[in-house]
Amino acid sequence: MLGTMMNYPLTLAQILEHAHCIHGDKQVHSLLPNGRLHTYNYDTLYLRVKQLANAITTLGGRPGDRVATFASNTYQHLELCCAVPYAGAIIHPLNVRLAPAQLAKIVAEADDKLIFVDGACAEQFSQLQHKIDCKHVIFFNIDTRQNQNLGNLSIEYEQFLSEADDDYTSDIQDENWAMALCYTSGTDGEPKGVLYTHRSMFLHTLAVNQADVFGLTELDVVMPLVPMFHAMGWGLPYASMFAGADIVFANANHERIVDLIAETGVTVAAGVPTVWTKLLPELRERKQDISSLQRLIVGGEPMPSTLIEVYEEELGVEVRHAWGMTEMSPTGTFSTLRSANQHLSDTEKWKIKAMQGRPISGVQIRLANENRTELPWDGMTIGELQVKSPWTARSYYKNEPTPEHFTADGWLRTGDLATIDAEGYMQIVDRAKAIIRSGGESISPVALENVLLKHPSIKDAAVIGISDEKWGERPLAIVVLSPQKTENISEILKQHLATGFPKFWIPDKFVVVDEIPKTGVGKTDKHAIMELITASQKGELL
Ligand code: ADP
Repeated sequence: MLGTMMNYPLTLAQILEHAHCIHGDKQVHSLLPNGRLHTYNYDTLYLRVKQLANAITTLGGRPGDRVATFASNTYQHLELCCAVPYAGAIIHPLNVRLAPAQLAKIVAEADDKLIFVDGACAEQFSQLQHKIDCKHVIFFNIDTRQNQNLGNLSIEYEQFLSEADDDYTSDIQDENWAMALCYTSGTDGEPKGVLYTHRSMFLHTLAVNQADVFGLTELDVVMPLVPMFHAMGWGLPYASMFAGADIVFANANHERIVDLIAETGVTVAAGVPTVWTKLLPELRERKQDISSLQRLIVGGEPMPSTLIEVYEEELGVEVRHAWGMTEMSPTGTFSTLRSANQHLSDTEKWKIKAMQGRPISGVQIRLANENRTELPWDGMTIGELQVKSPWTARSYYKNEPTPEHFTADGWLRTGDLATIDAEGYMQIVDRAKAIIRSGGESISPVALENVLLKHPSIKDAAVIGISDEKWGERPLAIVVLSPQKTENISEILKQHLATGFPKFWIPDKFVVVDEIPKTGVGKTDKHAIMELITASQKGELL
């Protein structure tokens, strides 16, 4: 027997309408490329979104069409992330840091009909423009000089908007209609497209606003330092709008982030660990009053326990470490402390927080081996992590599900190797592809990196496997040193690692670099490191 409740489609329109009706006075601040801070409220956002939905439709954008953005995080980008799905089309934020050839391939696969470009990214876009075939290019945040240089086919955003009516009502009846297309970061292969639905994004938004997850409320001021192209900014903008929190877009402008935290009273900020490592010296100086900042949401890469300790103990900011994937919209697990963990020492608590955490409500996780046997949750057995949830992909864009990525019983194979303990805390050992196989044994780069980062002379570290005639592969460490130059650093680091790892795990070689290459979303770029090392082996670098 069917129940008698309303069949109320879960769409993004509900999030937008709620933000307008209930939280219309709450604010969106954006640091613009010209350094000016732009501020307006959700009421204005709402009206402009309706105008934009009309304008897109007038220009020929039809339901289901893909509409790309090539932009940093600003209010216009938020307007697009609302208006495009509101009009039934599919928003596709492009990763502005990918190479033009890779982007051209993605735009062709996505078959983007329109593209909106941020003036701050105009230079990168000029290398892409002739490689793609989008009917219309619409620019925002451009200066007068750029405005004069716009080609015949290009349109200026404010002009585009001003010609449209703000009377528009969204009419999406099917909650399974697609609303956004995001590609994975491409850390260990070609980026793959994930096509979110209204329903999956709505449920993800509710799920992340649980107290134990982002825990956003109307009292919060949220600073997402995560680009929109990284799984819709980890869902933070939509979650903030639904909760009625203010939003602060700091763009990629690192120099101004700490000022902005102080000026706008940010309470929750989110970003990859690299961002928090970079900002630490400035935050430590505490020239500005950052006492409003209560919580960091960190993920995308392992957050070392040493960094958690500094933020929690020295700066008094709670760290919430999350694990997720583009395929999961992206939130999967969160490392918050259970009631049973409250009596532990701070050091023990930081160790737990450095794990990737327990599945959030709505997410199921399991471990499996190559024979597809489910493995025990004993905190020791390593297996492939598999996941299921209403906000997890069941296939990639324009691809049928294959056994490489999806199991026959409908779970996503994450490609991550992990353990799960009896309390449900999951810990990533490494990506399956990154594991180093040496003499038939496995070595985890992440485990070595975590211990290297605990050494006071090390600012950043990455470990990769390089081929070796005798052993198949051997670990090699790349390190960035703290300002003081240390003699015999290789020997010191070998001794440091020897206390926690078997002899065959210890890297034979340590390469000192000024900076470790990062991907477009700030993750350690092991491909680029490998190229660097190959170049050095050919005598080109060291
Ligand atoms: P890509 O797989 O191309 O990097 P994503 O940005 O979707 O694209 O990354 C998802 C992957 O990032 C996960 O499968 C996992 O390997 C890694 N990851 C995400 N969060 C964490 C974390 N907290 N700790 C360790 N690895 C993480």
